[in-house]
Amino acid sequence: MFHVKQPEGSDFDVVVVGGGHAGTEAAHAAARLGARTALVTLKADAIGTMSCNPAIGGLGKGHLVREVDAMDGVMGRAADAAGIQFRLLNRSKGPAVQGPRTQADRRLYREAVQAMTRACAGLTVIEGEAADLILEGGRAAGLRLADGSAIRARAVVLTTGTFLNGVIHVGDRSRPGGRLGEPPSKALADRLYGLGLPMGRLKTGTPPRLDGRTIAWDRLEMQPGDEDPVMLSFLSEGPVVPQIACGITRTNSVTHAIIRDNLHRSAMYGGHIAGVGPRYCPSIEDKVVRFADKDSHQVFLEPEGLDDDTVYPNGISTSLPAEVQEAYVRSIAGLERAVITQPGYAIEYDYVDPRALTPALALKALPGLFLAGQINGTTGYEEAAAQGLVAGLNAAREAKGEGPVEFSRATSYIGVMIDDLVSRGVSEPYRMFTSRAEFRLSLRADNADQRLTPAAREWGLVGEARWAAFAAKMEALEAARSDLRARRFTARRLHAAGLNLAPDGETRDGLGVLALADAGWEHLAALDPTLVLPAPWVQAQLRREAQYAQYLDRQARDAEALKREEARRLPPDLDYAAIPGLSFELRQKLERLRPATLRHAAQIDGMTPAALLLLAARLKARE
Ligand code: FAD
Repeated sequence: MFHVKQPEGSDFDVVVVGGGHAGTEAAHAAARLGARTALVTLKADAIGTMSCNPAIGGLGKGHLVREVDAMDGVMGRAADAAGIQFRLLNRSKGPAVQGPRTQADRRLYREAVQAMTRACAGLTVIEGEAADLILEGGRAAGLRLADGSAIRARAVVLTTGTFLNGVIHVGDRSRPGGRLGEPPSKALADRLYGLGLPMGRLKTGTPPRLDGRTIAWDRLEMQPGDEDPVMLSFLSEGPVVPQIACGITRTNSVTHAIIRDNLHRSAMYGGHIAGVGPRYCPSIEDKVVRFADKDSHQVFLEPEGLDDDTVYPNGISTSLPAEVQEAYVRSIAGLERAVITQPGYAIEYDYVDPRALTPALALKALPGLFLAGQINGTTGYEEAAAQGLVAGLNAAREAKGEGPVEFSRATSYIGVMIDDLVSRGVSEPYRMFTSRAEFRLSLRADNADQRLTPAAREWGLVGEARWAAFAAKMEALEAARSDLRARRFTARRLHAAGLNLAPDGETRDGLGVLALADAGWEHLAALDPTLVLPAPWVQAQLRREAQYAQYLDRQARDAEALKREEARRLPPDLDYAAIPGLSFELRQKLERLRPATLRHAAQIDGMTPAALLLLAARLKARE
């Protein structure tokens, strides 16, 4: 049990509000820096709760988890401890866009986060509601809890998720709530409004949960995990709990007819919700309306745990009334007798416009106050965790009187996300995609530790065990790299070995050979019998590095070209619909906003480097 109650006047370096994904990473990061840290949360036994889908990682999100892990964060290790199905998404594509993901046993995930939290030196958990900020000398100096007690601190981090003025909607019924079964945070929201912060309203939704014993699994297609699971943490070697398969089914024309007939009763479409929802996690109502030409959508049936019969039907989040949810669920193959154990619902909540923040996630208007997670307009556990780590790190530095640390777009997805948030703001819940990164060829999930662990060690985030493991890994890689650099292979020999290059080309070293599209370690071993093959993971890592090295120049040139072109004017009559490759989302935004220059276009939320290159190419073609 946590349940530590502090006496009046408790004094900390950093106090974090919220025990979700942002809050736990923030509190752990601050404590790792040696800050005396308090984590204040509404329910201590809900620390580490996954409010929506039971999965960690995925496209773009897996990169964020690896970056958090590279800095000794909590999320990757907890996900691996709870992982019941590991899949590397985009496996058939290049490593830069592959996303490690695991479906997690909800209870095991929560328990892993709570065990790490209990074991974290310098971290005190306090159960209670933060109701107000203590302000002194124009800066945040602590919190006042709802019971009137005060917690003083040099820096405060707010990570209140979907709780600020949260309202839960099921059909036309709504009630206050931060998530199902938990009260919203109203007093703190009032305080933030009182500070004059720019705030808005967003929404998100979750599907009904099903009783797995009432699903006809034998009639469904089953999807097992990968045979060679890829873990989320650099420190994990393999799954530690039994692995399961998920079921796959589909909606059909009957499902869609039920939904269409009841749209007016949906909270989203019935006019009860003002907030903007996540474009990339649409409700089933959204899908039926927006993709009216599609008569079927895939639904993944994901068991929520090994000892839990609850099933999460991924793909049908909703805010329709409970009886309509039951009718459409039962129209789906394999779910004809499915029993709903908890209805789906939508939640609407306040967020703070992240343009009010510095790149260190500090509020510009109120020194000492940091914000992270869903409160900044993002959606997703991984986005929250990554911001939490940055806010906790910077709050601890502030408490020590040290300057802020900022993350660059060139070296991390964390840098991409924070730059997007603080410079462009959000018009809908922000989630990470690899397409948001202009340097995505070098920002791979597999090299997050090489990009971030050394700097994080200097900041004090990385403990001895991880540093020793990282050093051993680097030593093994460097030994194999320098061995390959020392070996020479003439083009004639490589050609004769069946590799696709002209026999009169240059001589290559071993890394240069691995850079050839059709070359592998087996070619090197055949060409040079004195080569001692390194461990399989070293082979795989060096091949990835070699394959990508050749593209890095082009990536740098593209980024440079975009910088040079920023001042170019976009004609007011530019026909965005005629630019092939531009996504529907960006076309809509460009048509509505009609930016004057490429620089202005770059400021539109959701704009990607690839789309900017398309615009630049169109301008060139018009010259
Ligand atoms: P949370 O995980 O929400 O944690 C907030 C914490 O703050 C909680 O521990 C709470 O107790 C605490 N807290 C709040 N106010 C106070 C206070 N005043 N005092 C003390 N403690 C306080 N994400 C997706 O990626 N895709 C989805 O489809 C999706 N759907 C969702 C549907 C629903 C219904 C909900 C609720 C969330 C959904 N999410 C989804 C969002 C996902 O849950 C969040 O992005 C993620 O949990 C955010 O992490 P966080 O740490 O910012 O906040």
